Amino acid sequence: MIKLEKSTTIPSSLATYGPEKAAGLIKRADSGDSDFKSEDFSHKIYADAQLKAQLIEDQHGKCAYCERKKGGDFGAVEHYRPKAGYQVSTKSKLIKPGYYWLAYEWNNLLYSCDECNTTYKRNLFPLLDENARNISGRNIDAEVPGIINPYFSNPSEHLVFNQYVVKPRNVGGQEDKQGRITIDSLGLDKNQGLINDRRNAWEEYKNIELALKIAKEINSQEMIEAVSNILAEYTSPSHEFSGMFTNQE
Ligand SMILES: [Zn+2]
Repeated sequence: MIKLEKSTTIPSSLATYGPEKAAGLIKRADSGDSDFKSEDFSHKIYADAQLKAQLIEDQHGKCAYCERKKGGDFGAVEHYRPKAGYQVSTKSKLIKPGYYWLAYEWNNLLYSCDECNTTYKRNLFPLLDENARNISGRNIDAEVPGIINPYFSNPSEHLVFNQYVVKPRNVGGQEDKQGRITIDSLGLDKNQGLINDRRNAWEEYKNIELALKIAKEINSQEMIEAVSNILAEYTSPSHEFSGMFTNQE
């Protein structure tokens, strides 16, 4: 995960239809019916093609959570705060309603690969202190979410890599709580396909480092420059797993 910046222009589907749609949901909840289901939310609006393209661009073509890049139309627009209902852990039941009033909020959307979205995160939204949750008051001000949103905070303050292995940061002798919850919720250290992809990228990077060492030994300026340029690409935000290459313990 790397820190992301969201473009400030609200996509037209949200700007045009979002406020009215959200008002309808709020009205329904206030009338006593907050048993929302996914079909109560308009996918056409929150996952409109132009909006999705904007998120992909803001995220350098990568999943916000795992930093994989599969090319083409590989993922989905995901609600950070789940819209219909939420779970505080994988084993706990779905609690309704969720954050329905944020279903069309630009700040609540990110782009995620299908695996992170549907296999791991799903409706998970634990808080560091559950008492801070105020769904009935539709107020999120006191919440400290367990799962890091890379648009809101810098993931490298919570996560760190030892080679291709991701870990919570150590803060004063203790694991960073958000780091731990993020890793567990998204399966960042369980998803074998993801771990293999990270390991392959890491090994590739180490081989190129070795090539640089050789270039220096034979003192080939041309080769040093070429290999250094390749290495630098790995740390650029648009490279898969750049968060791993730039955030080693
Ligand atoms: Zn992912």
